Amino acid sequence: MIEEEIQRNAVYLHEAGHAVVAVEMGEDFISVHCDGQHGYAVPAKKTSQPSVVDFMAYWGSFVTRMGGIAGESLELGRGHDTVFRAGDDISTFYGLAIAVNRSLGHDIQYLQDQMQDALLCAKDIVKRREVEVRAVAEALKLQPEMTKAEVLAVMQRALAGAAAQLP
Ligand SMILES: [Zn+2]
Repeated sequence: MIEEEIQRNAVYLHEAGHAVVAVEMGEDFISVHCDGQHGYAVPAKKTSQPSVVDFMAYWGSFVTRMGGIAGESLELGRGHDTVFRAGDDISTFYGLAIAVNRSLGHDIQYLQDQMQDALLCAKDIVKRREVEVRAVAEALKLQPEMTKAEVLAVMQRALAGAAAQLP
């Protein structure tokens, strides 16, 4: 594959990674969008904030934010470890982490450790569910705007297809 194609593929895998990790972590979202250059997910409005404010209360949200980098690493992780849209996700991660941390007072090293843990967790999910991540990425190429229900249907079909191929 030429470099441009790898990058394009990685953009789709990035959004698919966010979506599949969100499903696994129980983070609600309305839809996922990707046009091959840009992408985003529309999160569902949270009805209630966790009453006990600590990092664990936001863990699903932290891991979902790292899902994009995890998803694109399926293409980009081999050979070179450049991440395509890491900048945005890392800054939103720290935005949330700093807000959560305001009353907790952990130091920056703690927040960095949380990010590494969340990234490892997201990468683990993406590796384990690679078939579904790749299926959602392919579906997004045909349909640049997918609702959560459509994402779930694609994931289910991908699993059924993978099961049918077992010896
Ligand atoms: Zn992202």
